[in-house]
Amino acid sequence: MDEILSKIREKDSDQKEFQQAVEKVVTTIKPIFDRKPEYRRQAIMERITEPERVLIFRVPWMDDSGAVRINRGFRIQMNSAIGPYKGGLRFHPTVNLGLLKCLAFEQVLKNALTTLPMGGGKGGSDFDPRGKSDNEVMRFCQSFMTELYSHIGADTDVPAGDIGVGGREIGYLFGMYKKLTRTFSGVLTGKNLGWGGSLIRPQATGYGCVYFAAEMLGTRRQALEGKSCLVSGSGNVAQYTVEKLNQMGAKVLTLSDSSGYIYDETGIDAKKMKYIMELKNKQRGRISEYAEHYKEAQYIPVAPNRTHNPLWAHKADCAFPSATQNEINGIDAANLVRGGVKLVCEGANMPTTLEGADIFLDAGLLYGPAKAANAGGVAVSGLEMSQNSIRMGWPAQKVDEVLHEIMKTIHKTSLAAADEYGVSGNYVAGANIASFVKVADAMLDQGLV
Ligand code: NDP
Repeated sequence: MDEILSKIREKDSDQKEFQQAVEKVVTTIKPIFDRKPEYRRQAIMERITEPERVLIFRVPWMDDSGAVRINRGFRIQMNSAIGPYKGGLRFHPTVNLGLLKCLAFEQVLKNALTTLPMGGGKGGSDFDPRGKSDNEVMRFCQSFMTELYSHIGADTDVPAGDIGVGGREIGYLFGMYKKLTRTFSGVLTGKNLGWGGSLIRPQATGYGCVYFAAEMLGTRRQALEGKSCLVSGSGNVAQYTVEKLNQMGAKVLTLSDSSGYIYDETGIDAKKMKYIMELKNKQRGRISEYAEHYKEAQYIPVAPNRTHNPLWAHKADCAFPSATQNEINGIDAANLVRGGVKLVCEGANMPTTLEGADIFLDAGLLYGPAKAANAGGVAVSGLEMSQNSIRMGWPAQKVDEVLHEIMKTIHKTSLAAADEYGVSGNYVAGANIASFVKVADAMLDQGLV
């Protein structure tokens, strides 16, 4: 394992996030290799960390002033052992190959946990949709799809949204795919309801994360009702996390964006959440405006080069990081523990650094890692694919019930794997072991391909 890690460090020396993701998994799955020597003989670890295919392409487009702009597009087709590649597209200036490989690697394991037949992939661009007009976003999406379309398909690779890619972007991408291929298929998920989307898909990641948190608390005979919660982000995942927390009787104190955060001691209730959804999804405003509207709240700006985020220093019972990768470092994690937090449930992908994760585990917190806790989003994407295949749409209640069952299964599977390998209660190890074994066994069955 150490050899594999040092090879990755050497070969992909500039891909820090990818190294971090592999390291995080490697440290927990070593014992599997003692029980299953075939994995070593068949070089499963080397194969699973090497993408099956990486696409990098130029995305030329024209802005509203007539100036030519160039961005870089990516699609990482990481692993197809248990199904077509599946994973989101991210449009954000921080997007690069290492970050997407990290997310694709995590996606392979996450998708394996959902019980649905989905391989793993990830993609996106360093394009920043913020501050762009609808027409600029449309021209960018069309250009992006002009290259991507020949590499994806309903049975090959099914992208979805992620940071910066919501319903608007999926619509423009889908329209161009349809025009280029002359097919109307379930090639993207996160579609609008009127043309192939699934009910509950927008809610799925947030709801699923809260269902997972409730299961974790259940192991200590506790419930979310009456718990105070810190939530970061104010995008799709954060919004529906707050909605479900409110429904379950918890009190949400914070939300954030990349400029800063709001602290509302009286709680961000359903009515206030409606205001935030209008602000963020329609007016595309900043979270600071919440504190101008609701005088009981404070807005605290957070500099990008800060040593830690004061959001995580508030006293609370639970934390739901739902913004972005590495948003909780060692200082933040220590602050959370000091502030009395007993549960951390990751809505965002890899929001906690290695150091932060160790602090949570050492403190004996209920710590739900992203690949288990936020798998609800991709799970309902899988259900959207099923509905597209049978050309039918299921009612919201049915999708929500299946989502809830899937989250309970992921929780149970992760706990059982942790027990089996002598690390009871460690969801990080449990989720890594259960998902890794599923993918590795499928790879063995299918031979050296
Ligand atoms: P959105 O684009 O809807 O929202 C992202 C939020 O995070 C925004 O509030 C954004 O603020 C904030 N943010 C982004 N970058 C930073 C940063 N560097 N520092 C602080 N805040 C930041 O994305 P989603 O809600 O869809 O995704 C959030 C996380 O959840 C991501 O890690 C994503 O990969 C993960 N995820 C999403 C799923 C989904 O179904 N949507 C499924 C599984 C995981 P600003 O507006 O200022 O950029």
